[in-house]
Amino acid sequence: LVSERLPALGWRGHLAFPDEMEALDGVLSAGFGVVIIETPGNPDLAVLDIGAVAEAAHRAGALLVVDSTFASPVNQNPLALGADLVVHSATKYLGGHSDLTAGAVMGPAALLEPVAGWRKTLGQTPSPETAALLARSLRTLDVRMQRHNANAQRIAEAMANHPAVRQVHYPGLPDHPDHALARRQMRAFGGMLSLTLEGDAAGAMAMVDALELFLNAPSLGGVESLVTQPVMTSHADLDERERARRGIGETMVRLSVGLEDADDLIADLEQALARAG
Ligand SMILES: *Cc1c(COP(=O)(O)O)cnc(C)c1O
Repeated sequence: LVSERLPALGWRGHLAFPDEMEALDGVLSAGFGVVIIETPGNPDLAVLDIGAVAEAAHRAGALLVVDSTFASPVNQNPLALGADLVVHSATKYLGGHSDLTAGAVMGPAALLEPVAGWRKTLGQTPSPETAALLARSLRTLDVRMQRHNANAQRIAEAMANHPAVRQVHYPGLPDHPDHALARRQMRAFGGMLSLTLEGDAAGAMAMVDALELFLNAPSLGGVESLVTQPVMTSHADLDERERARRGIGETMVRLSVGLEDADDLIADLEQALARAG
């Protein structure tokens, strides 16, 4: 969207790297109107300081939009931290059962009014069936998130001590680089985590193939646990240098932790790591 589609419409965009966040005022001095961030981020679970980015955006006269999909509204409320708009892929935790596609945007009425106009004109309106499924799913969002949070924390702690795992990317672990910030701005840390495995790409692929409970499939946030390799899926379009700058290695494996029994999930990861050698 930012590198190809918007420029084709005459809009200027800049796709910032995580290491540019420190110097955000300089980046924004080029005169951008909107800053869009995702936190926690896919797939490295990096956490950005929503309040600090909101201040920088506002200093530059820009709005801050936060994609809060990975956290869900149960774990994080960016509007309370200074964001102007929040977006969620309702396809993920809000729907929660991998059976609908929808989105949500939240904010003050004055900012939502033009969005509603565009939505009506462009037809981004869910069907009644989708809306009914989403309404039913929202009634269990809080209890589902509690289980996603607890399961992911258990798995992160188990994998942090596994000799075949070089690094666990989960903001709920005390040694995650953004743990202190995550504790300040999140209530809990969510059901998404990534592992950087020892070994090579073929070993990572063998491990993913050996999993029996984690289904190798895209999307996230549903009742069932899923596994993906970011270099083969969400980040396949990035070249190698850009992936390296974003810390996405060829042995990175992303987990969407579902609502199954945590011991069963940990046992599945352990048997897959053993079988893949
Ligand atoms: C999946 C996802 C999207 C896209 O949402 P769709 O509902 O699939 O269109 C946007 N942001 C994040 C963080 C996502 O995980």
